[in-house]
Amino acid sequence: MTVAGPRPTTLRLGIDLGGTKIAGVALGDDGHALAELRAPAPRHDYDATLAAVAEMVRALERTAHGTGSIGIGMPGSLSPASGLVQNANSTWLNGRPLQRDLEARLGRPVRLANDANCFALSEAVDGAGAGARSVFGVIIGTGCGGGLVFGGALIDGPRGIGGEWGHNPLPWAGPAEHPGPKCWCGRLGCIETWVSGPGLEADHAQATGSRLASEAIAARAAAGDAAAQASLDRHSGRLARGLAHVVNIFDPEVIVLGGGLSKLVHLYAVLPGLVSPYVFAEQARAVVKPPVWGDAGGVRGAAWLWG
Ligand SMILES: [Zn+2]
Repeated sequence: MTVAGPRPTTLRLGIDLGGTKIAGVALGDDGHALAELRAPAPRHDYDATLAAVAEMVRALERTAHGTGSIGIGMPGSLSPASGLVQNANSTWLNGRPLQRDLEARLGRPVRLANDANCFALSEAVDGAGAGARSVFGVIIGTGCGGGLVFGGALIDGPRGIGGEWGHNPLPWAGPAEHPGPKCWCGRLGCIETWVSGPGLEADHAQATGSRLASEAIAARAAAGDAAAQASLDRHSGRLARGLAHVVNIFDPEVIVLGGGLSKLVHLYAVLPGLVSPYVFAEQARAVVKPPVWGDAGGVRGAAWLWG
């Protein structure tokens, strides 16, 4: 005689491998989260990173009482040519066969994608871009990434960099913006050096001599501080030019902002008007929306890598 236990559930596991934390979600059939977990990410230790991801998979499946497909959002991307990690600011992952090593450790297939791509996919599937044919998901936080979704699928080309706009130069740069700050990627004046959180903070510090966090700059501007408002204005103008450059190529129906600076609510009011003068079309206004899933977009999009 067999005793019937609870039927194991088929899950979609999503894991967001960040620089300081690993977040995980187990989605049921209907997209509801059955388990959500967080753990510190090992730093500067590749083998410990593999072990931590494997432990997150086990913990999610224990908590959600099932087994599932595994999708992982990561900094940087896998080079389609070599299968090795490239462009990760968690530099201890670069040059490593992360997919192969995780599959060997877990004994099943794993899909990996850039974390900004996962965010874009999540918001396109059932977030702020739901129902739109084309979505540009933008991460503006510590860094500046992006992902393009068309017809429900990520645009991920032969180099694995679809939607990466942060390391193009700031478009329509004025004399005071050229050549621009040095970027960690080795170039000067990348969009990321201007519009990321650290970019806004460095620009404000240079203008005022006062080093403040992005939220504090926004709070001071809201309280009537003219210098803080000027910093926000420079920042939103640069962000708008960066977005307009992508609009002129991809023409997305919806732009969704993510990352820490997506919490700066003034951006949704000012960006459509600031983007317009740079867009090569009669209907030049952009639709810019806040994320529906907030910080959970990365893990949810990772789970959706299996459709
Ligand atoms: Zn750069």
